[in-house]
Amino acid sequence: MDRRKFLLTSTAVGATVLSLDGCNDSNRVAIDYSKHPKHTDKKAVYINKGKKTTIKLATSWPAHFPIMGEGVEAFAARLDAISGGSLKVKLYPKNVLVPALAVFDATSSGQIDAFHSGPYYWKGKNSAFSLFSGIPFGFDAEEINSWMIYGEGLQLWRELYARYNLYPLLGGNTNIQMGGWFRKEIKSLADMQGLKMRIPGLGGEVMAKLGVNPVLLPAGEIYTSLERGVIDATEWVGPALDIKMGFYKVAPYYYSGWHEPGSILELTFNKAFWDKLSDEQKQMIDVCSSEMNANMTYRFHYENIHTLKTLKEKGVKLRKFPDEVTQAGKKALGEVVAQLSAKNKEFERVYESIAKHLELSKEFADISLKYFLDIR
Ligand code: CA
Repeated sequence: MDRRKFLLTSTAVGATVLSLDGCNDSNRVAIDYSKHPKHTDKKAVYINKGKKTTIKLATSWPAHFPIMGEGVEAFAARLDAISGGSLKVKLYPKNVLVPALAVFDATSSGQIDAFHSGPYYWKGKNSAFSLFSGIPFGFDAEEINSWMIYGEGLQLWRELYARYNLYPLLGGNTNIQMGGWFRKEIKSLADMQGLKMRIPGLGGEVMAKLGVNPVLLPAGEIYTSLERGVIDATEWVGPALDIKMGFYKVAPYYYSGWHEPGSILELTFNKAFWDKLSDEQKQMIDVCSSEMNANMTYRFHYENIHTLKTLKEKGVKLRKFPDEVTQAGKKALGEVVAQLSAKNKEFERVYESIAKHLELSKEFADISLKYFLDIR
């Protein structure tokens, strides 16, 4: 199969399947997919007719979870269409077959074939895994994709996951995340002392060094905890998803962030299952996951910019952390990285690869994107 021809012919069949909509929420942004480019001048090509493979795929998200869950549903529909029905995905939202954070082990053991989640959830297995999500003050979505695809990222990730009988593909990106919702305004570093904040991952470890008490809560308990003052602050993702959680009603200060500037989501396969797929099937999954990886990023951007307008109309107070908080955060990140590198040579190795790429990227961004964004 000519890969280029395959790519050109694939868009027509999938053009309508992206409009999956399982969530009737008044805050949702309507997208007109009919305006997307189509290649209707090409004849449909059917591949693998007759040979059907079903992928049992569990996610860490509830059914029809906006953007992330829907992105996986769109991936499944696209793969079905592009393969002429020969590659089916049997989708299991969180807790239906496997608990949200047991998908890694369930795929590793072969109970299921694949999962969609985020690599930083598995840092307890290997602290280096958190780095495949990204780091505070690190890559934005474009930069991490360039490190993953053209740098050493995917290669390192696949090497480390292979020990768990897993094979990861890029499965989306949340795009830049917001710093979170605070009940009280942060005017100094001292205001961070003793603050109880729901924040996971390396961001939580950085916050801990600033005197914050980072806590982990199931998604369903965050709003009530914030409302009752059990916690003082929470981060989540960005405007598009945060508005649905209602945090603005109980914590009016919404901060710009640096802890998750472009977090990667993963589509990870059981390696033995992946290895047994035909080359054609691997190519089709690869194409569809690349599309999911890109489209999820763009959709976060699209919905975030429209939702920000709504949040402002609701009286949300937009803030930036005081400079001393940000500077202390950067210093704390250095300490967290040094400690984890000393404990785990693999963390050190992955971090070194990131640091090299990031240094070059920052230098270029300074004379290009940063300049442009500042004057735009
Ligand atoms: Ca987050």
